[in-house]
Amino acid sequence: MLPVRRVAVLAYHSSPLTEPGSGDAGGMTVYVRGVAAAHAAAGIHTDIFTRATSEGGRIARISEGVRVISIDAGPPRVIPKHSVAQYIDEFAAGVQDFAAMQRTSYDIVHSHYWQSGLAAIPLAERWGAPLVHSQHTLARVKNLYLAPGDTAEPQARIEGEERVINRADVLIPSTDDEWEQLSCLYGAMHDRMKIIHPGIDHAVFKPNAGGNERAEARERLGLTPEHAVILCVGRIQPLKGLSLAVRAAAELAPQLDRELALIIVGGPSTPAGEAELARLRRLADDLSLGARVQFLGPQPHGELPELYRAADVLAVCSRTESFGLAALEAHACGVPVVATAVGGLKYVVHNGMSGWLLDSADPSKMADRLLSLLADERLHLSFSEAAAASARRFSWDRTAAELLELYSCLIAASAPEACTC
Ligand code: UDP
Repeated sequence: MLPVRRVAVLAYHSSPLTEPGSGDAGGMTVYVRGVAAAHAAAGIHTDIFTRATSEGGRIARISEGVRVISIDAGPPRVIPKHSVAQYIDEFAAGVQDFAAMQRTSYDIVHSHYWQSGLAAIPLAERWGAPLVHSQHTLARVKNLYLAPGDTAEPQARIEGEERVINRADVLIPSTDDEWEQLSCLYGAMHDRMKIIHPGIDHAVFKPNAGGNERAEARERLGLTPEHAVILCVGRIQPLKGLSLAVRAAAELAPQLDRELALIIVGGPSTPAGEAELARLRRLADDLSLGARVQFLGPQPHGELPELYRAADVLAVCSRTESFGLAALEAHACGVPVVATAVGGLKYVVHNGMSGWLLDSADPSKMADRLLSLLADERLHLSFSEAAAASARRFSWDRTAAELLELYSCLIAASAPEACTC
């Protein structure tokens, strides 16, 4: 294999320095950080380029071999994702100037989300480097599953995605579903897609070690060991369908012989996020759930393992989900998941073994499935063990190794005489 020494990662619209859990920072941020750390451990240097959202420091070293470089493009503040697209050319020029100033070149350009993909096209051409692209979400898919009252993704995004999909050397769908979406909805070439699943850090997300971990985690939330604790994790937006969990909790509460707690972790995202949060609060009030529902807001990623360990079950209600890292994190902590059967959730959750997949967003069905786990200790234990075992299929090291193999082959394709693989 040809050595890969330096990778330029583009995360234009969302900085990996921002904590995930609200606004534009979510699973993509966790992905970019996880892969870069695993590549650094393999001796590969990663520069992650993002749009500067504040004045001040331009280069941040987040770990040995991983730098985040904030490039001036547009106003140095957070601006909504839909208006940030106008600064893409300025950003690409800034990245190019930075590389020229540092006398650095890159073996691979890997862009994340369509806006970064557009910035990556001229850079990959300029550097003569292969372009690898990860979508994370797709406008045409989002529009197919739009929640009532939510705003459709604009045509400009669809056209931008099409340009990137047509130009990238290789696209990285996270799952077979995304592969099919790219093929059927965007006409992506089959020989230019490679499915690579995202990963997880098992040193951080791991089951309770026994002892008092669970009780202590609950105590910090004002909960007792006896509570039935349902957790939801993710940014709050209509697409995440959280009203399903709130309605299911209202049906479930009277059927339980112990107190119920629904803990919702994450802050609003997308222009409709604030309204969605207000709607969920109103719904919880209307259903007289009172203190049974806690909206914790966004929590630092490092705090998430403790929250999963406090929970009996994770509920995932998404209308669509490209992968669903939260479900994988819960499983890695030994927490069963009840989820809508969409996107990557179908790969992470083994229906009837590590969790339950719902074929429709029906609160009664979700309540039934939650009850089955909350009322049957033996079933819960068996699901919990299966969840932790199932999560072991995934790791950032594995994701990074698969990407590395791909990068090497792409470099070899542009210099076949030098390839040894
Ligand atoms: N997350 C977090 N803090 C929060 C809420 C979420 O760190 O308050 C993290 C969560 O642990 C997961 C990611 O954000 O790693 C969400 O990823 P997922 O794939 O579930 O959803 P996405 O954000 O990609 O839609």
